[in-house]
Amino acid sequence: MCGIFGCVLKEGEAAPLIHQGLRRLEYRGYDSVGFATISDGTLHMRKDQGRVDEVVGRLGLDKMPGSLGVGHTRWATHGAPMMVNAHPHTDCENQIAVIHNGVIDNFLELKEELINRGHVFESRTDTEVIPHLIEEEMKGDINIGEAILRALRRLEGSYAIAVVSSADLERIYCARNESPLVIGVSDKGTFCASDVPAMLPYTNKVVYLRNGEFAILEREGFKIKRIQDGSAVEREVEEVTWTLEMAEKQGYPHFMLKEIFEQPKSLRNSLRLQQQYLDLLTAFLDRGRELFLVAAGTSYLACIAASYMFSKLARLTTYPAISSEFIAQYGSSVGIDSVVLAVSQSGETYDTLKAIDHARMRATTVLGVTNTVGSTLTRVSRAYIIQQSGPEMGVAATKTFTSQLMVLSQLALRLARTRGKVSQDEVDDFEARLLEVPVYVEKVLEKHGTSIRSLVEKYSGERLFLFLGRGISAATALEGRLKLLELTYVPSLAYPAGESKHGPISVVEEGTPIIFLCPRGETRREIVGSIMEMKARGARIISVCEEGDRDIKELSDDVIEMPLGIPELLSPIPYIVPLQLYAYYLAVEKGLDPDKPRNLAKSVTVP
Ligand code: GLU
Repeated sequence: MCGIFGCVLKEGEAAPLIHQGLRRLEYRGYDSVGFATISDGTLHMRKDQGRVDEVVGRLGLDKMPGSLGVGHTRWATHGAPMMVNAHPHTDCENQIAVIHNGVIDNFLELKEELINRGHVFESRTDTEVIPHLIEEEMKGDINIGEAILRALRRLEGSYAIAVVSSADLERIYCARNESPLVIGVSDKGTFCASDVPAMLPYTNKVVYLRNGEFAILEREGFKIKRIQDGSAVEREVEEVTWTLEMAEKQGYPHFMLKEIFEQPKSLRNSLRLQQQYLDLLTAFLDRGRELFLVAAGTSYLACIAASYMFSKLARLTTYPAISSEFIAQYGSSVGIDSVVLAVSQSGETYDTLKAIDHARMRATTVLGVTNTVGSTLTRVSRAYIIQQSGPEMGVAATKTFTSQLMVLSQLALRLARTRGKVSQDEVDDFEARLLEVPVYVEKVLEKHGTSIRSLVEKYSGERLFLFLGRGISAATALEGRLKLLELTYVPSLAYPAGESKHGPISVVEEGTPIIFLCPRGETRREIVGSIMEMKARGARIISVCEEGDRDIKELSDDVIEMPLGIPELLSPIPYIVPLQLYAYYLAVEKGLDPDKPRNLAKSVTVP
């Protein structure tokens, strides 16, 4: 999410360097741009929505005076992409400018408290509480560094921040918790940025700030302290040897692999949804007689999985619907009693928007789940939730799929509690496991992150794959197949395993590889039957199953072992990860570019 760049120089102007730095962070995705610099005791600040070069040119940002300054590219999470919400944000007196990457979870409480103390807010962002909190602390007659530390102790959530103020003409203050921030040192001055590429032209000597740390940047160097108690931290400067391109991908060869590995983090972010929005959506869902989950592509497959959760946990009749088919299939029957929950990463998917336009015309309640604040979907839905996975560069969806499922699971859980149709114990257990999902995914990545390559090599010459699963795992099978198709162009089939004998079984011959999804749960016994059926026809079986599942192991030619304790209804999130890796490595093996599959676009905004 977004980009931060700051520098405090021994000589020369900071603004042109900030411009160049932000350009090198453009690959991260953003919607607005802003700078703050300090010169002659004055804080200068300009910002607007738009692209880096365009806003810099239009507002003359690179002419802003001062050898000390910060710049920000925003990727909106709270408040639409528009000038007032762009960073930097300031206090009431315009003396403290803050840029921020991340999400402040408790901003609503803090904002209310600050408003009660007389602070005036201009934006809808979570970020704006930070300068006001610092301002409030400074009333205690302490220096700005101490005031920032005290303000930071009140923040919950994720942040990388950089602060400049007319109260200190010599320093930039930074801090981090869960969002990245790197410090760079050189004989020209000291830098901070979200990522190494921004500072590579000036220095390759860097220090990575860690969670819970605060840093003071001066022209001659830097100091690091712990936010919790202000104690000093000693850290060696590291030399990076990455090229610019490697640095953008944080050392990964492709964005897709980086994004697959980012999932524990993006899933944690997707667990931090604002409770009042979850409540609002739940209230609308609860009023529906039936629920349509409307989406296209990978989002549609997330909807298939989610339909099992809504039906099972909340006992709400739920239909996943392909956006482009929705009007033809359900257009004449949806009405005032139906609820449509549209799921679109970009919030701009043409077919999805068309489907919901139709639904709205028939007085249907339309809700949204999207990754893009300010997108059309957020404007046309009655209520929406931002999935908080951050921008995704790989064309094939990975972390946005698992985050969509994380959001939809939380909605299903909340609706289950409201409707009270399943036992309290069952719902409590689901919630406890849901919180563990990022850890399950971490374990899967540790175990299979690179070792799955040998399996990929073993089957790399195959010309056809089948993916089979039962129950909710049918959705995992479909998404695993979609990844393989998108990235490797290898024809493949995916079916609910029970359906396979009604047709697909005819393609199975001696040696055909079939990937079976076999989490523990209600469908496991039947999946054993399906495996036997396929084995009898000479198929080679690759099973994704729980560690130590002997029965499945004995029937399989190869197994991908998954951590213990994952409940079936949540299994699509961790179980898709090895299949994402499988498709990625097979594409690499075939010499294809996994980040840019042929003929595909990231967001489909045309009919
Ligand atoms: N949550 C902040 C906002 O919406 C920061 C977003 C970002 O990381 O760019 O303004």
